[in-house]
Formats: sequence, C-alpha cells, structure tokens
Amino acid sequence: MTHFSAGPGDDGHDALFGLDALDPAPGAPGHGGTGAGRGPDDRPPFRESAAARRLLPVRTIYAEPAAASSARGRQILARFPDAELIEVDSHWRIPGLHGNEGNVERWVRVKGETLVLGERKTLATRPNGRSADWIAPGPSNGCAMACAYCYVPRRKGYANPVTVFTNIDAIRAHLARHIARQGRKPEPNQCDDSAWVYDIGENGDCSVDALISDNTADLVRAFRGWPTAKASFATKFVNPDLLALDPRGRTRIRFSVMPAADSRLLDVRTSPVGDRIAAAADFLDAGYEVHFNLSPVVLRPGWEEAWTEVLRQLDDVLPGRVKRQAAAEVILLTHNRDLHQVNLGWHPRAEELLWQPALQQDKRSENGALNVRYHHQVKAGAVRTLRDLVAAHAPWLRIRYAF
Ligand code: SF4
Repeated sequence: MTHFSAGPGDDGHDALFGLDALDPAPGAPGHGGTGAGRGPDDRPPFRESAAARRLLPVRTIYAEPAAASSARGRQILARFPDAELIEVDSHWRIPGLHGNEGNVERWVRVKGETLVLGERKTLATRPNGRSADWIAPGPSNGCAMACAYCYVPRRKGYANPVTVFTNIDAIRAHLARHIARQGRKPEPNQCDDSAWVYDIGENGDCSVDALISDNTADLVRAFRGWPTAKASFATKFVNPDLLALDPRGRTRIRFSVMPAADSRLLDVRTSPVGDRIAAAADFLDAGYEVHFNLSPVVLRPGWEEAWTEVLRQLDDVLPGRVKRQAAAEVILLTHNRDLHQVNLGWHPRAEELLWQPALQQDKRSENGALNVRYHHQVKAGAVRTLRDLVAAHAPWLRIRYAF
C-alpha cells in the first residue's frame, strides 16, 4: 500500500505551503497562471514533478477515437508519450478494466497506471440542496487515489481509474446556460448566502484531475466569470498548481479531514491530513473559499477522542482569516456490501474499521445499490456528539449540514 505524500521534500515544492508561498497577492499580476504552464512562483508546475509522476505513472490510455483526436485529448496524450494507446468504442464498460474482479489484486496499480479518455454524452445538472445547490456534469469520473470507502467506483465496478471527459467546452457551455437560466439566487440557504453552488467533482477529485489536464483550470476560470454562481469540490489531495488559477472567490475548495490514524489506513494515495490543513491558508490567499468536509466519520472505539484531536489541530493551525470564512459538512460513513467484498480482496484491515455489522443496517440507495449505514439512532447520537465536539474545540466552525 502506498501512502502518497505531497509534503515537504518532494521536488522543492516544500515551501509552497508556507505563509510566504504566495507573492504577489491575489489579484496582482502573476496570479493569472495557466493550468498547463508555470507554477505559482514561476517554477515548473507541480504536475511535472517526480511526486506527481509517482501518483500517476500512466502506462495505458484507453480512448474513444473522438476523445483522442480532440484538442484536450491530444494535450493529454502528449503529456504521457510513452503510454500505450488503446482505442475503445466507449469509456464505459471497457473489457478487462471495468467490472473485472480479477483487477482486485491490482486495484491500486490500475488507478495510477491507467487513464481513460471519453466524451461526456449526458450533460445534465441535478438539484442537490445539501453539499451544493446543484451537481454539475463533472469533468471526470474515477480517481487515481484509492480511499477504501470511496463510492465513486459504484457504477463501473472494481478498478476505476480516472476517465477524463475531453469535451470540456461542452460542459462549460452547458453550465453557462444553466447558470443563466437560474438568474440571481433569491435567498440565502446553507449552501451559500448569495451564489448558486455547483459541485464540479461528484465523481472524482478535481485536484488530481489537474495533474492530468486543464479541465479543472478551465472550470475554475469559467466560474470566476459567473457572478451568480460558485464552483465547489471536495479534495484529499494538495495540488499546489491550483494556487495559480486565480479563482477570485468563485470556487470553494473543501478539504476533507479525518483522524490521521484512520486516514493512514483508509485514505490510500492521498495527501496526509496535516498537509491538507496546512495548505488551507495558502488556498484562501490564492483566492479560494476554503471549507472542510469532516468525512467520512467512521465510528470505532475512541472515535470521539480522535476527532477531538482533529478539531484541536484545525483550531491550532488555521489562521483567523481561514476560520472566519470556514464552514464544514459532516458526513458519517456510508459503506456498501459489494465494496466490502472488494476491499477484503486488497485491503482487509480497512474493513476492520469500516464493516461494523453491530452498528450498521442495510439501506437500498436510489440507484439500487445495497448500501450499509449506521443504525438511525447510532448515527443521530454520533452527529450530536460531533456537533458538541465542534462547539467545544472549534466553535468558529459553522456546520453547514450533518448527516
Ligand atoms: S479522493 Fe475521493 S474520489 Fe478519490 S478515491 Fe478518495 S473518496 Fe474516492
């Protein structure tokens, strides 16, 4: 198991998370960097670093012909010139990749060594109302990281490496039309006081996508031109290249946090939780709104003490300017019977934490999957406890919602 670290010592990027990382100030010349160009202080972008290449040592790229020949597709293929290119009719259900139980042993390797290029055929924005007002058609599906509780592979089966949707212009045009149709947000809600919030990363991690292509950069830049809307995505990866995108407050980045010991076991290939917290101020200073996902909350003996530590760390590390604008989502673990079986094949120790039949019950999800959740009363009690812990140790942290 690899626990990827983007922390100090990786290719000279160690200074990026310090308070002096951003000079000039947001909005000043030099903050209009490109996703593909130089880093925030004119160094080579992080995505060219050895650390980034370790996370994504791409060897095989499956591509729909139209995706491969598109402008975005050609850029991606040029970034990985040694990768074998395999044409596929569709980015869904690629034989030998998706739904292939034989991939369980290679689960983590497949995620880093394989990319898929496709075109997003369905451009639809769905209402949400919890994490965001709307779920946008995302620029990717799948992830190079391998969190043991991840629900993203639910539709594709087992190994689910990143599929990059190359028709980013169509996604952007769809969003422009959708946002224009909404007009101004009529009244504040817990998603945001004034902006319609669009989650752009439901089925992947936009920070990792930015190691592969400019899709994330394109959307961050698009949202800064839409004054009634705001992009939002959760991440477990600190990608310093995002600091150069000049989001001008129109993108909310939500760093997921959990107890470090749980994260080391469950958040395979992600940035350490301490790095995510340490990066928050740099992201705020670079023009992002910075929120936190306290998720997933995994109930196990000692979970209250472990979360107390997380909240104390947030309180100790974050400067006042981050605290003043911060808010959090609290999400208790939802697990899944199929995923439990897969995990037993590659990471059984994770299941010692995730699979707690005495505390959990089945719940059929909207898409028909058999999910497993904490019993209603267990969950309600845990949410109450966590709210009390936040009130005691990080009272500045507004909880947007908890479930
Ligand atoms: S970072 Fe998010 S999308 Fe990626 S594996 Fe972890 S939970 Fe899934």
